[in-house]
Amino acid sequence: MRFCRRFAAAVSVAALLSAAPASAWGPLGHRTIAGMAQQQLSATAQREVRTLLQPDDESTLVDVAIWADDLRDTNPALFRSTSRLHYVNFSSAQCNYVPQRDCRKGECVVAAIERYETILADRSRPRAERAEALRFVSHFIADVHQPLHASFKRDKGANSVQLRYGRENWNLHAVWDSLILNSTGLRWPGYTARLSAGPALAAADKGGDPAQWAEESCRAVRDDGVYPEGNSIDDAWLDRERPVAERRMRLAAARLAAVLERVLASPSR
Ligand SMILES: [Zn+2]
Repeated sequence: MRFCRRFAAAVSVAALLSAAPASAWGPLGHRTIAGMAQQQLSATAQREVRTLLQPDDESTLVDVAIWADDLRDTNPALFRSTSRLHYVNFSSAQCNYVPQRDCRKGECVVAAIERYETILADRSRPRAERAEALRFVSHFIADVHQPLHASFKRDKGANSVQLRYGRENWNLHAVWDSLILNSTGLRWPGYTARLSAGPALAAADKGGDPAQWAEESCRAVRDDGVYPEGNSIDDAWLDRERPVAERRMRLAAARLAAVLERVLASPSR
């Protein structure tokens, strides 16, 4: 349902102009990342996730993957107060993150991941608060890996870049959120299986911190053909860029799993 609404918005220029640049990966991307991360969790971390979510009738990362975007409908006040936490804007193509400049008042995806990770790790806090932190941290780690959620203010993370795809109008941000993935015809369980079957990531790729992940996304925007030449794209362009998106998703899943393993399942806690 969410996809239908987003798709409708993407093909309507008027709706696009009013759309906030907030949601990053569409439902397919978010669920695929969450599904991969869930598979990588130890039994202990999976149990911790279930214990936190079960009172709300949820049990896995997939169940909560798009909760932070759905707040737009389910809790507009909370959505408004957190909508800036889905992305970060860099000031130049050097892609170096300076908190005081790029994340004023901690209102960006980098600071949000750090903040909610701290809440999630704190077992003295109420279950509901930690469950909310889990929903946010899972979603935002996925978001920060969508290249155009760590890009440039001048075009609102490419929300203002209009493109033709066949007879449809798209903005470039929505292309990266949804079209590159949806054009495979896969749904989330299938997409998770497809990406999980790929070559293993190097151990070093699973580390890093939110600022480094954002800088990587920014460099992908700068270096990896995220912006097409000209103002139309075709299936060949989608096929060419899809590996960039899929690598970002695999990194997001591995890093989300590593964070949750550390925070929820390490014996020191
Ligand atoms: Zn988001």
